[in-house]
Amino acid sequence: QIQRALRALSIPLERLHVMKGHMIEDMCKGLSRQTHAQAKVRMLPTYICSTPNGTEKGNFLVVELCQSQVRTLLVTLYGDGNLSPQMMYKIYDLPEGITQGEGEALFDFIAQCVTQFLAETTSPDTDSEQYLPLGFVFPFTCRQTQLNKAELLSWSKGFNCSGVVGKDVVELLQAAIDKQARPDKEGEASGGGGWFKSRKSSQSAPSQSRHVEVVALMNDTVGTMMTCSMEGRACEVAMVADKGSNCCFMAEAYLVETTDETSGRMCVNTEWGCFGDDGTLNDLFTPYDQAVDEESSNPGEKRFEKMVGTLYLGEIVRHMLIALTAEKAMFTGTDAAVLKEKGVFTMQHLLEIVNNEDSITEVKRILEALGLQPSERDCGRMQQICRAVVGRAATFHATGLAAILSYMCQTRDLESLMVNVGVEGELFAGYPRFEEILLSVSRLLAPECMATILASRDGSGRGAAMVTAVALRLTAQRRAVDEVLAPLRLSRDDLVKVQALMRDEMDRGLGKETNPSASVRMLPTYVTHTPDGTEKGDFLALDLGGTNFRVLVVRITEDGITMASEIYVIPVSIMQGSGEELFDHIIDCIIDFQTKQNLVAQMLPLGFTFSFPCQQVGLDKALLLTWTKGFSASGCVGQDVVQLLRDAAKRKRHLGMQVVALVNDTVGTMMACGYDDPKCEIGLIVGTGTNACYMEEMKNVGTVEGDQGRMCINMEWGAFGDNGCLDHLFTHFDQVVDETTINPGKQRFEKLISGMYLGEIVRQILVVMTEKELLFQGKPCPKLQTKDIFKTKFLSTIELDGDSAANNGIGVDSNGLALRQIRAILNELELDASFEDCVLMREVCQTVSLRAAQLCAAGLAAVVEKMRENRGVDQLSVTVGVDGTLYKLHPCFSNNLQTTLKDLAPNCNVTFMLSEDGSGKGAALVAAVADRAAN
Ligand code: ADP
Ligand code: MG
Repeated sequence: QIQRALRALSIPLERLHVMKGHMIEDMCKGLSRQTHAQAKVRMLPTYICSTPNGTEKGNFLVVELCQSQVRTLLVTLYGDGNLSPQMMYKIYDLPEGITQGEGEALFDFIAQCVTQFLAETTSPDTDSEQYLPLGFVFPFTCRQTQLNKAELLSWSKGFNCSGVVGKDVVELLQAAIDKQARPDKEGEASGGGGWFKSRKSSQSAPSQSRHVEVVALMNDTVGTMMTCSMEGRACEVAMVADKGSNCCFMAEAYLVETTDETSGRMCVNTEWGCFGDDGTLNDLFTPYDQAVDEESSNPGEKRFEKMVGTLYLGEIVRHMLIALTAEKAMFTGTDAAVLKEKGVFTMQHLLEIVNNEDSITEVKRILEALGLQPSERDCGRMQQICRAVVGRAATFHATGLAAILSYMCQTRDLESLMVNVGVEGELFAGYPRFEEILLSVSRLLAPECMATILASRDGSGRGAAMVTAVALRLTAQRRAVDEVLAPLRLSRDDLVKVQALMRDEMDRGLGKETNPSASVRMLPTYVTHTPDGTEKGDFLALDLGGTNFRVLVVRITEDGITMASEIYVIPVSIMQGSGEELFDHIIDCIIDFQTKQNLVAQMLPLGFTFSFPCQQVGLDKALLLTWTKGFSASGCVGQDVVQLLRDAAKRKRHLGMQVVALVNDTVGTMMACGYDDPKCEIGLIVGTGTNACYMEEMKNVGTVEGDQGRMCINMEWGAFGDNGCLDHLFTHFDQVVDETTINPGKQRFEKLISGMYLGEIVRQILVVMTEKELLFQGKPCPKLQTKDIFKTKFLSTIELDGDSAANNGIGVDSNGLALRQIRAILNELELDASFEDCVLMREVCQTVSLRAAQLCAAGLAAVVEKMRENRGVDQLSVTVGVDGTLYKLHPCFSNNLQTTLKDLAPNCNVTFMLSEDGSGKGAALVAAVADRAAN
């Protein structure tokens, strides 16, 4: 019989695995918006999104409502790591009957405790601060909607004050405190309850001259987590193993669907005491648990808590003894009637027995003190029973913990998780083997996780002060972050204005007289048609001015286009040497290519993609306006680039090619996409730089003779704003980035948008945020001072999760994954970043890339609207051929661009088409189209 009883309490590992699975399921249920209402494990959001980082400082007041007391605490933090905060506390007993009376009386009493405490502990002369933030520890189930907004769902633990359920308890406490602080109402306030002697003059109560504000409300479990977070290491899980049982942990915020928070993490109060209330633990329920439950004030509820809470463990033992006595397995032949008395066997008894394993006499003494007459054998059995009951409680705690650890590990997409777990409570403190069981069993059930147990030294009060301090730190930090980023955030009006300015500049650039003063040069390209699909032939193409210099052969047939190409290096000495050397080198590369491709015998037409601003005077005649992108070969600016190439060919006696067209890369992009989509009449590049071209009506092109048909205009829009028209948009960061480029004051629009600059802008912001101690706790980051160390591709990595993770179910992976990659970047930069630093860095990147996409959209909106007007249509359907690594690889750029464009140009239906090798294919197509037009 005794073995059977003990067996019922010992749970096989497989069953614990199942229990862990159920716990995870229930946690997910509690977090999901759809199932939250029915969930037994309620997973209440706490709105605590950060753990202390040691920089918090100031005075913080805590008031904690306990079973029969109100505890007040004043904590002074020095921001020095906060290892040894100064603390003063006082405990007040709750007056008889107040827990059953009116809510107002309860809150008035708490407020009076605060007033009294402040009067005794602080003096108005020495404490200059007028504002005192307060954290309120309120250990009842609340629906929290903000850190300082929490509606009481139900009383428990013997409390039943009227008029509080359904109300915001923060508001009730604040009102009671404010009532105390008003001198004219003083008599009424402190006289109302009558628990404190009323003070006559307002000057005697210092709290009246300062403003106490309830900044945060929290559960005791959360307070424990925060208390344990203070020793310089973050604690992300806390467990209270006391009269009741509960656990909280830092969950990924986007998983907490009952709140709108999507970035970072939020502490979730599991309220796991109700686990099993839907029957999932029924098979683990012994007849003794059943008996305990039936005798409780809330039968059928809090099933998990009733197996693990210290309020119940003594009772479980008592019911086992009753049953075994009835079965004549214990206390045979003696009077055991005393066991019928509820609560006679206490937790204290239980702990004394399990903690004195070797001492039978101790067991005998305890049982005899209860009025029993145990035999030697009874004492031995008693030990076994007690051990089994506490052991099961510890094992169940471990199972719950394993569920939480595995869940955290999974949702953070980690292979393994190392985490600190704060623990407190009677069971933990009173039963030394608890920690050992907790660790070994949770390790068996969640081998991928490694928990370190931190004992909470002084309960939740200190932690509550930390929550309050963190809340204030975050509010101040948010304000400071917004201040830094505000100039980079553009309103719709800003964008409409940019669109209008771009339109003005386009018109000025097209006008013969106004062109010289326009910042957008609107260069004619002499490309008058886009492909129609009938082009044919073999062509050579050159691509100079992109990331690589390439020579290509392009075969256009009825069945499509095939290409072969080779990349050649242009040494810096040649890029910056003489023009003759440069073009000789280019011809050498062409000869090498044609030889390798067996193309020397033919004379092939050549299209030359030349991605530098040129004043084109014919399809094959283009004067170089300036070099960019690190080129500075002498004797070229002002010269016809085609002629320079032809001269070099002559010098090298190369006859295998004939230059027929010079093509800008935007035009190449448009043409390449135009071959597949006849609606493609715009080209856009967002790579190292940014630029656009589009088909304009000849009659609008004042800089070229003739009014018939259309011509592609290379806008050179990167220079938009060089005349000062965008000055109002430039931030401090843009100024600094501009000043450190080789062309300060030039290409101002491009410097807000393209790949060469976004990383630098982000870096400048990070530097300033570090100086302002908003990042990396203000620690200096030497590597971050290096120009160009923050690559634009980092933005792509860092922003990868964002929307995609938050908006869809599979976000779990991408969220964690991106974080892992962010860590790799941080290592590369030698940055010691916390999770919150990562979240803030992501916000910085998002702000910068969003602005870039929006500005690009405003420019494009001006283009499509102009085309729509040109053609006199209400609705324009047009395709944009796009190239550039930033556009192609950044996770949000293209979406942001398209969304903004729709908003700014609602009458244009714009399709975006990615160009594949526009420079090569496009140049050949320009040559081919020219050929077709000529014939
Ligand atoms: P180019 O414009 O010179 O022809 P690309 O279109 O390849 O060259 O663009 C190169 C630029 O793209 C670089 O300046 C770099 O900053 C940026 N870049 C490279 N990789 C990424 C990425 N993964 N995400 C965003 N930008 C990137
Ligand atoms: Mg390119």
